[in-house]
Amino acid sequence: MDQHIDAATVTHTPVAARPRGQRRISRLPQRIYPFRVLGMGLAGVAAAVVLYERQAAWPAWTWMLVIALAWPQLAWLRSRRSSDPHRTEVGNLLVDSALAGSLAALLHFNLLPSVLVLTLATIDKISTGLPRLWLRSLPWMLGGLLATGLATGFAAAPETSMAVIVACLPMMILHTIGVALASQDLVQQIRGKNRQLDQLSRIDGLTGVTSRRHWQQQAATVFAEARGNGRAALLMIDIDRFKDINDHVGHAAGDEILRALGEILLQLQDRPGLAGRYGGDEFALVVPGVDRAAATALAERLRATVVVRTAGGPGPEATISIGLAMVDPAHASLRDWLEAADAALYRAKGAGRNRVEASAG
Ligand code: GH3
Ligand code: MG
Repeated sequence: MDQHIDAATVTHTPVAARPRGQRRISRLPQRIYPFRVLGMGLAGVAAAVVLYERQAAWPAWTWMLVIALAWPQLAWLRSRRSSDPHRTEVGNLLVDSALAGSLAALLHFNLLPSVLVLTLATIDKISTGLPRLWLRSLPWMLGGLLATGLATGFAAAPETSMAVIVACLPMMILHTIGVALASQDLVQQIRGKNRQLDQLSRIDGLTGVTSRRHWQQQAATVFAEARGNGRAALLMIDIDRFKDINDHVGHAAGDEILRALGEILLQLQDRPGLAGRYGGDEFALVVPGVDRAAATALAERLRATVVVRTAGGPGPEATISIGLAMVDPAHASLRDWLEAADAALYRAKGAGRNRVEASAG
């Protein structure tokens, strides 16, 4: 019957609810206009056949033409001139339903077109995604039906001829396809948003390295691959006396240090996801395909790089301690591997910080 609207078009905050100065021009009327022209026009085709068959008088033809041809233009003008187009368009949608009710009575309740316009008008309200709009539209529909019914004396001729069935087909087919296309569009938008959210949840906003949960998944993969051959290292990295640094230079400067460390770790990782922020000032790096000597050299290089970077930079000097653990067949799970690296880190802290300690295993 009338138009179809995808939910994304209209589910934004109603204009009236937005703070002053932030009113956005609603694009709802522009989106609905072509659908209303098409939907009302196609309903008019079916209605014309019904009126022709029963040799209806000119007032019935006039009213049908007002609904099918004039109303879509009028609705457009109303929205264009409104100071609150979104609100006006919602009003137009309710008028659409009233006109659908009116058309059913005008067609003397010819079964197929009447059921079709009432059903499609309701589907259109549901498709807007506006909460309960379809329920709000029902009294309008009933009002339109009763008002026109009073004018026609509630004349009823429910039988539908083959010609009218055929005239209803374009409305049926195009509306159904329109609804399907709009929901497909919506599904694609939701997929895109989900991908964005997924991406955001994988990455630590401050440092750019992988967030803990996702890092653990990556580490578990490397663990499963390398457990048999022992060629992978896990580095637990923690900034030394970071609390003091924050206290002395402020939280923002502390953030800069975290960011710089994140950058260094991103350059060191073999593939995306292997450098992670474990929490606070603690980071973790999985290094696949290395033996103990290579891993120790890498850890030592990392430790030295941090001192050089921070000493040379504008910020305060920061050092890191590193606990290193090679993957071991004795580790039953990633947790054992992590605990070994953690224990080594603990030893590095105890031994005076700014150093690398490796687990014996
Ligand atoms: P240690 O050498 O033993 O590691 O001493 P520490 O002071 O670094 O001790 P600890 O690791 O327990 O302290 C972590 C500090 O990191 C405490 C917290 O205020 C700070 N921190 C955690 N997250 C952030 C953050 O996102 N930004 C900043 N600036 N500081 C953070
Ligand atoms: Mg620390």
